[in-house]
This record gives sequence, C-alpha cells and structure tokens, in this order.
Amino acid sequence: MRLRLFLSFTVVVLISIASLLLVIRQTAIQEVRTFMFRGGMAGLEGVVAGLENYYAINQTWAGAGHLLEPSGQNSGSGRGNRGGQQGFGGMMAGMMNQRIRLADADGNLVLDTEDAEPMGSLGSDVLQGAIPLRMGRDIVGYLLPEGGMVFSSGDDVALIDRLTRAAYIAAGVAIVFALILAILLSNRLLRPIRALTQAADTLAEGDLSNRVTVQGNDELATLGQTFNQMASTLEEAEASRRGMTADIAHELRTPLAVQRAQLEALQDGVHPASNENITSILEQNILLTRLVEDLRTLALVDAGQLQLEMVPTDLASLVERIVRRFKSQADENQVDLQFSVDGECLEIQIDPGRVEQIIGNLISNALRYTPGQSWVKINLDCSPNRQILSVRDNGPGIPSDATELVFDRFYRVDHSRSRAEGGTGLGLAIARQLAEAQGGELTASNHPDGGAIFELAFSI
Ligand code: ADP
Repeated sequence: MRLRLFLSFTVVVLISIASLLLVIRQTAIQEVRTFMFRGGMAGLEGVVAGLENYYAINQTWAGAGHLLEPSGQNSGSGRGNRGGQQGFGGMMAGMMNQRIRLADADGNLVLDTEDAEPMGSLGSDVLQGAIPLRMGRDIVGYLLPEGGMVFSSGDDVALIDRLTRAAYIAAGVAIVFALILAILLSNRLLRPIRALTQAADTLAEGDLSNRVTVQGNDELATLGQTFNQMASTLEEAEASRRGMTADIAHELRTPLAVQRAQLEALQDGVHPASNENITSILEQNILLTRLVEDLRTLALVDAGQLQLEMVPTDLASLVERIVRRFKSQADENQVDLQFSVDGECLEIQIDPGRVEQIIGNLISNALRYTPGQSWVKINLDCSPNRQILSVRDNGPGIPSDATELVFDRFYRVDHSRSRAEGGTGLGLAIARQLAEAQGGELTASNHPDGGAIFELAFSI
C-alpha cells in the first residue's frame, strides 16, 4: 500500500513536471525568437507585424512612414517624429527616443525616423543585426532600431539550450522535493490505516476492547468511527452472549437440581412415590420444557428465522377469544377480568397466533401479579391509523426504574416469586420481540392510581 501510494505520487509528479518542461521549452523557444528576431528586444513586435501586414497589402514600402510615427504626433518633423499608427503608440512608448530605419529587401533605405528623405543602402553586416520583415517565406525588408543588439542565427539555439538546462535543473530539484514530500505524505496518510489494521488484528484475535483514535472528519475518520462502533457492537453482543449462557445455565440448574433431589428422595424411599410427589416432579419438568421452548423462540427471532403468518385479522374478536380463555383462571383467583373496545376496529395485518402468545403472556402476568379480590382491565382502542391494546391491573405495579428492564431476558423484579410461580423470566422479552417482528410496539408503565399497564400498539 505504501509503495503503491508512493509510486502513484511519483507518477503524478513526473507527468506534471514533464508536461511543465514541455510547455516551458515550447514557450521559451517562441519567446526567445520573438525577442531576438521579431523586434521584441526593442518592444517593436507590433510595429514589425504592422509593417509586414502593410507590405502584404500594398506590395511596396511607399507610404509606410506613418507606421513608424507615434500616435497623436505630427509626421515628418525630425527628431521625435517616430512612432506608429493608432495602436502602436503604446508599444512605441518604450523607444520614444530611438531612431528606426526601414530598408527594402535589397538593403536600400526607404524610411528613417530622423531623416525625411533617407538615401543609400545598408551593408550586409548592418542587415545581419536588423529585424527581417517577411511575407510568407520571403524577406521583403529590414527594420533597424538603433541601439538594437546584433544576434547571429545560432544565438537563439544557444540561449534556448541554456534556458532548457536551467529548466531541467529546476525540474530535478522539484522532483527531489516532491519525492521527499511523497514519502512524508504517504507515511502520514497511512498512519491511521496502519492503526486500523492493528486494531482489526487484535479484534480478530479476540480482544474486543481495542479502539482506534479518531481525528478530523474526513473519510478515514469516518472509517475509524465505523470501526469503533463495530467493535462496541461486537463487545456488547459478546457480553450479552456470555451473560445469556450464564443465565441459561443458572435457570436450568435450579429446576434440574430440585427435580434430581425429588427423584433421589423417591429412589431412597425418603418420600413415597405418591401422586402428589410425582406431580411436583412433573411441574419442574413442565417448567424446564417451557424454558427450553422460550429459548428456542428467542433463538429463532435472533436468527431472523421466525416464520410469521401475517393475515388480515379482527383484533377485537381475537382479544375477546383470548380473554374468554382466561376467564376461569381469573375466576379461580377471584380477579375480575374485563374487556372493552373503543372506536371502530378495522382488520389489521398481524400473525394472530403470535399476537395471541403476546396477549396471553400479558394477561397471565397480570393475573399472576395481582392479588385476589382485584381486577384486570383489557381495553382495545381503535383509531383509523392505530390500534392500542392495553392490559391494566391493580397489582403492585413495576418499580419505576424497571419499566424497560422487564423486557430484558431473565429479568425479574422478584426472582424467587417469579420462579415459584412458574415464570421463566423470558415472557416479556419474547413478547416484545414478537411485537416488533410484526411492526408493533410493546411498552410498560404504571398507572397513576397504581398497578401496571402494558400497551401493545399496531400502526395501520
Ligand atoms: P416472568 O416469567 O418472571 O413473569 P416476564 O418476562 O413475563 O417473566 O416478566 C418479567 C418481570 O416483569 C416479572 O418477573 C415481574 O417482576 C415483572 N412483571 C411482569 N408483569 C407484571 C405485572 N403485571 N405487574 C407487576 N410486575 C410484572
């Protein structure tokens, strides 16, 4: 990874510098030639272009004098009488005191900014230092700014070579700096990734407590946060798995131990094999069977393998049927079991078997935790977009800090009482899971007048 990052940086740097060099070289060649041979040296490249243009149109230098006059000045008045037509004025500004002469292709003087009637011809040595004026490939004249340097034809190549060499040295220095930076940057970029890899390794080895330090808010920071979140979730899941295994072992041990003691007492003849003693052993067995069945349901929900048969159901008649089933048990406990419906209840999409399991658990809890001579009120409140079933009793209620805890696996407010009454401590945990699996909600609270209220709500 580090090598790949470094190589990527290097390729980008090399391509950028190579392109830069190419552009610099091309521009340098062009600029040097303009500077040396196209009047750039004297700021005359505009005048040169103007004169060449003039000759191309007129095929003669006659009348081209105004091109050498500065704009806004009278022509033909001796010294200072130089410059050009409108547009060259700016360019001429840099050479106001400079004499300029123009000769035709044979070297005969045709214009002189210091002589209204120039005469004679220029020698080849003078013409060598002049700016050639061209029409296509042919030389049609020479412009001779006074004080201009004389360059020979090889000078441009030498200067370009020197400029190129300087550019190569600059490129070399830039590459060295860029490579050092590439090493530093790839190290810096890889540091959090290395930390993440290390943390992932320790996680894979089973240490779920390791976290990475998150800095900034870029993609790597997000990755670090996600990693930490994942590690926390794993740690919680692992803790819950361990707790669950310990709880299951604990829950199984007690009824098994009781059952064993009773069976040994029968075997040793300490207790007679009476109907009463056998019923007691059977009760422990029933509790164990229920516990195993509850655990199986929870495992199915956890694995997402619980099969739901969702069908349009009239919740009101379903609840009525369940309440009827509990009537005799309520009568036995001297509990007044009431059922009422508010509003018009439309059919809703639920699994009636699983909803019956939830409501059955709530009613049997209410009956179990309600003393005799009391009541349990079940109400179904139907509105067009929500149906809420509440099971309220006038028992002791739930301690206010335990209204959420009662949905935890194996949580009981009173351990010995719950177990003595055949509770597994899994009923509400399963009920909530089943409700949520069908898109419903199950909550617990206490009524201000006392007693617990459990609410099962389905949105339509
Ligand atoms: P259990 O098998 O112990 O009843 P649940 O999961 O059904 O297990 O209930 C968990 C705990 O919630 C119970 O042990 C009890 O302490 C409390 N609880 C449940 N229903 C009621 C109720 N109607 N009134 C008071 N406490 C209740």
